[in-house]
Amino acid sequence: MTLTAWGRLRTNEAKISEPATLGDLVGRVASGEQFLGLGLARSYGDVGTNGDGVSISSANLNKMVSFDPESGLLTCEAGLTLRDIQQTFCNRGFMLPVTPGTSFVTIGGAIANDVHGKNHHFAGTFGDHVVEFDLVRSDGSITTCSRNQNEGLFRATIGGLGLTGFIARATIRLARVAGGWVETETIAYGNLGEFFSLADDSEADWQSTVSWFDCSTRKAGRGSFLRGNPSGSTDPLAAASSSLAVPLVPPISLINKLSLDAFNIGYYHLKKATSGKARMNYREFYYPLDSIQHWNRVYGPKGFYQYQSVVPRRDGAEVTKEMLQIIARSSAGSFLGVLKTFGDKQPAGLLSFARPGVTLALDFPNRGEATEKLFAKLDVIVSEAGGCLNPSKDARMSRQMFEAGFNRLAEFGQYRDPNIASDFSRRVID
Ligand SMILES: Cc1cc2nc3c(=O)[nH]c(=O)nc-3n(C[C@H](O)[C@H](O)[C@H](O)COP(=O)(O)OP(=O)(O)OC[C@H]3O[C@@H](n4cnc5c(N)ncnc54)[C@H](O)[C@@H]3O)c2cc1C
Repeated sequence: MTLTAWGRLRTNEAKISEPATLGDLVGRVASGEQFLGLGLARSYGDVGTNGDGVSISSANLNKMVSFDPESGLLTCEAGLTLRDIQQTFCNRGFMLPVTPGTSFVTIGGAIANDVHGKNHHFAGTFGDHVVEFDLVRSDGSITTCSRNQNEGLFRATIGGLGLTGFIARATIRLARVAGGWVETETIAYGNLGEFFSLADDSEADWQSTVSWFDCSTRKAGRGSFLRGNPSGSTDPLAAASSSLAVPLVPPISLINKLSLDAFNIGYYHLKKATSGKARMNYREFYYPLDSIQHWNRVYGPKGFYQYQSVVPRRDGAEVTKEMLQIIARSSAGSFLGVLKTFGDKQPAGLLSFARPGVTLALDFPNRGEATEKLFAKLDVIVSEAGGCLNPSKDARMSRQMFEAGFNRLAEFGQYRDPNIASDFSRRVID
């Protein structure tokens, strides 16, 4: 069956297996065949693909097992999606404590990439809210892991890129909220200096902060800062309305310098005009792109890359400025740049990406050699600043860059499952 990661850079003819019970799952995992766990394939690059080999999907392991309204503890199978959790619980006074920018993510995928959201400075990463999980290994064992039980395997699996075993079920602690609304404020800013002041000033009083910024036009560096707190409103939230879709892959990328500039100018002015306070429903606040299905198709048949870096906060302003200059000179431009600060929380897993610092995420159409040359220059800046790239977004970083950015890799090696590999692990770890 065809399997394509979100960046659509290549297509694999994967052997996808979809076990429906724990017994089937153990049988598949312990069959002796090399494999990789698969969620909703929302990772951009190659952490979630296994060439033309076996992918074991959690698609049929998606049930809620129990929920305790006293503690907020939800136990579920690993294929349950963040979308299902938010929809089920937001009108009942609970939500996910941490969520990435799309809700089309499974619990297994959220743990294996230790995903982060807009509220890292307040709540850390997804892994910080995982209480325990059951891990099925290729020797047929099922190991319960938590902070008190098999802690080494617990920390290796959080952010462990699916390489330590198949997460069958997990218990996570949901956050208590009044309802599904968020009190927000949008502020237009003119340059990076203003962004960093806004980020510093917002962290004490705002649980979530993020900014979209222009990195393609002559005024690159300006943007729109969004901050939000859970609302006290208990008004029930209507079900999500039906979404738009990009119906097919256009023969060429619709993203080029002209369309990028037009979009960035238009978006900046739209955000400027709509600045101010507003009450948003959580879908609009956390998942603005989920309303357009298959938006990744607009990049055409060659697909696209997301380049997400994190660098220490101390040099963040300088480093970001330098990266923007390089991007401007390359005339590559990026659709929407996302710039955000991570808080001081130490990573939950041995290979977690999110760490104290400044993170920049940029989408670029795949233009072959020109794009590679641009990334090589950005890599030098990120590496020299002591930063690293996000594996869940990556499809091309070098082994050397991965090793330099993830200094607990040797310790992680002790917990690898010998029968699991991904295109990413073959490229930079094995
Ligand atoms: C629009 C968009 C916005 C995003 N925003 C963010 C963001 O803000 N923050 C962020 O951190 N990420 C973000 N991401 C990335 C996304 O959250 C992660 O890549 C996530 O892990 C994808 O989950 P998935 O269920 O699709 O898993 P997949 O992509 O299918 O798999 C991801 C990894 O998990 C492993 N895995 C999956 N299921 C299991 C299992 N049951 N047991 C063991 N291993 C398993 C896979 O082997 C793979 O290594 C975004 C992605 C998109 C498309």
